[in-house]
Amino acid sequence: MIHNVSVIGAGTMGNGIAHVFAQYGFQVTLIDISQPQLDKALAQISKNLDRQVAKGTLMEEQKQATLGRIVTNTSVADGVAKADLVVEAATENSDLKLKIFADIDKAAPGAAILATNTSSISITKIAAATSRPEKVIGMHFMNPVPVMKLVEIINGYATLKEVTDTIVELSKKLEKVPCVVNDYPGFIANRILMPMINEAICSLYEGVAGVQEIDTVMKLGMAHPMGPLQLADFIGLDVCLAILKVLHDGFGNPKYAPCPLLVNMVMAGKKGMKSGEGFYVYTPGSKELVVSKSFQ
Ligand code: NAD
Repeated sequence: MIHNVSVIGAGTMGNGIAHVFAQYGFQVTLIDISQPQLDKALAQISKNLDRQVAKGTLMEEQKQATLGRIVTNTSVADGVAKADLVVEAATENSDLKLKIFADIDKAAPGAAILATNTSSISITKIAAATSRPEKVIGMHFMNPVPVMKLVEIINGYATLKEVTDTIVELSKKLEKVPCVVNDYPGFIANRILMPMINEAICSLYEGVAGVQEIDTVMKLGMAHPMGPLQLADFIGLDVCLAILKVLHDGFGNPKYAPCPLLVNMVMAGKKGMKSGEGFYVYTPGSKELVVSKSFQ
């Protein structure tokens, strides 16, 4: 029975995951190495709950109760000590995740399920860093977590069926739609999405069209709610690059090679919306895009 959920990483995804679990009645411990990041995450959760109250989908008392179910911690070991489920949403870096899973394996109760929100790193590899690979699973939420319905659930090589069933039922309790897939690079979501984003960046890099034109073609022509370049900014260009590298290494196929423009932008610190600039420039402190950058 899952009651206590520890969420590791309070960035873009971690705050959304904590928000959703707390909203649906779970006790949440949100963990990050950075106290300012935890403060920022709580402020973001409060702001997002305000939006739900304003829309009439949540009552003010429910907002307060949701916030009351979230505590924060800067220590992974302390923060997972009572967890029935840990959902790791730290930075997309393989070595970092292996270290975090080795640590939580030691500190979390033996019965706890250890899930990762990784976009692309092998669940089997992460599971092998623990003494309980059968209880390790991918629980891949989509951004923004409170809004997006899908949870891609990824079975590692050793994941037990009971564990998958528990996470499927849990996702339904969060009013999400679970979809179970197997553990190969990029799973399904990013194996299909990232080559499209990379191709959009290559089209820009080769001067086939500008930012607005590429996004408009894909929005209006394919009925996508957002163009691929805007979506890349939204996901984080560093996250997109990390996922493409996993696809490229995992399949050994040059079709996944990250576009040099993406590599340059990440090296220049242009990570998209979270850094204030990517393919678009954003108003500081807001999600609103101001102008598209000129790449010609
Ligand atoms: P982010 O950079 O916004 O946040 C990562 C957080 O992890 C930061 O707050 C950082 O301080 C924290 N962190 C780093 N090392 C830590 C440690 N040792 N212990 C605790 N916290 C630590 O990243 P994000 O976009 O939220 O991505 C998190 C995960 O979710 C990644 O695995 C990513 O691939 C995945 N994901 C991202 C998206 C997206 O759209 N951004 C979508 C689905 C999945």
